[in-house]
Amino acid sequence: MSYFKEIAVGFWSLLAGMAVTIRYFVKPIVTVQYPREKIQMSPRYRGYPQFIIDPETQTHKCIACDMCARICPSQLITVEGTKFPGEKQKRATQYLHEHQYCSLCGLCVEVCPTTALDFSKVYTLAGFRREDFVIDHLILLQARQKTAGLPITKIPTAEEVAAAIAAEAAAKEAKEKAAKAQAEAKKAAEANAAPAKEDKE
Ligand code: SF4
Ligand code: SF4
Repeated sequence: MSYFKEIAVGFWSLLAGMAVTIRYFVKPIVTVQYPREKIQMSPRYRGYPQFIIDPETQTHKCIACDMCARICPSQLITVEGTKFPGEKQKRATQYLHEHQYCSLCGLCVEVCPTTALDFSKVYTLAGFRREDFVIDHLILLQARQKTAGLPITKIPTAEEVAAAIAAEAAAKEAKEKAAKAQAEAKKAAEANAAPAKEDKE
C-alpha cells in the first residue's frame, strides 16, 4: 500500500513542479540580457553624484564653494577652485569623489547653492581596487560632453591655476594698498582742517 502511496505523492509533486514551470513559461520575460541589454533606471534611482550640464552654458555650475565637501558625512569630496582673471566667481579646477565611501545620502546635492549636482543613473559599477571608484568629476564631465557632442570644458593646468592665484593675490594687495592710501589721505585732510578751525575761533 505504501508503495502505491509513494508513487501517487511523487506524481503529484511532479505535476506541481510542472505547473510552476508552465506558469512562468507563458509569463512575459523579465530577464535582461546584460550587458547587451540595459535597463532604464527609475527617476529616483541614485547612482554616484555628478555635475549637471547647464543647458545654457553647456558646462558645470560648480563655484568651488566647498559646501558639499564640508557637509559630506563621509568626508569623501575634495574640491579645489580659483577665480580666473575677468571672471566674477570661482571655478572648480578639481573635484574628486571617492565613491567607495559614499552612502548616497544626498546632502551634497541638497546643499549646493548653484544646483551643480544630481545623481547619475549609472549602476554598472565594478572594480578590483578602491582607486577604481575615485571619480574625477571634471574628467567625467568631459567624457559626458564628448558623448553628447557638446563643447568640452577645459581643465586648467597647474600653471594656469598658479597664475590665476597670483593674479588674484596681486589684485587683493593693490586693493588693500589703495584703501590704506585713501584712509591716510582722509586722516591728513582732517588734521589740516583742525588748526584752520582753531585759528578762526
Ligand atoms: S551623497 Fe552623501 S555620502 Fe555621498 S558624497 Fe554626497 S554627501 Fe557624501
Ligand atoms: S556645493 Fe556645489 S558649487 Fe559648492 S563646491 Fe560643491 S558642487 Fe561646487
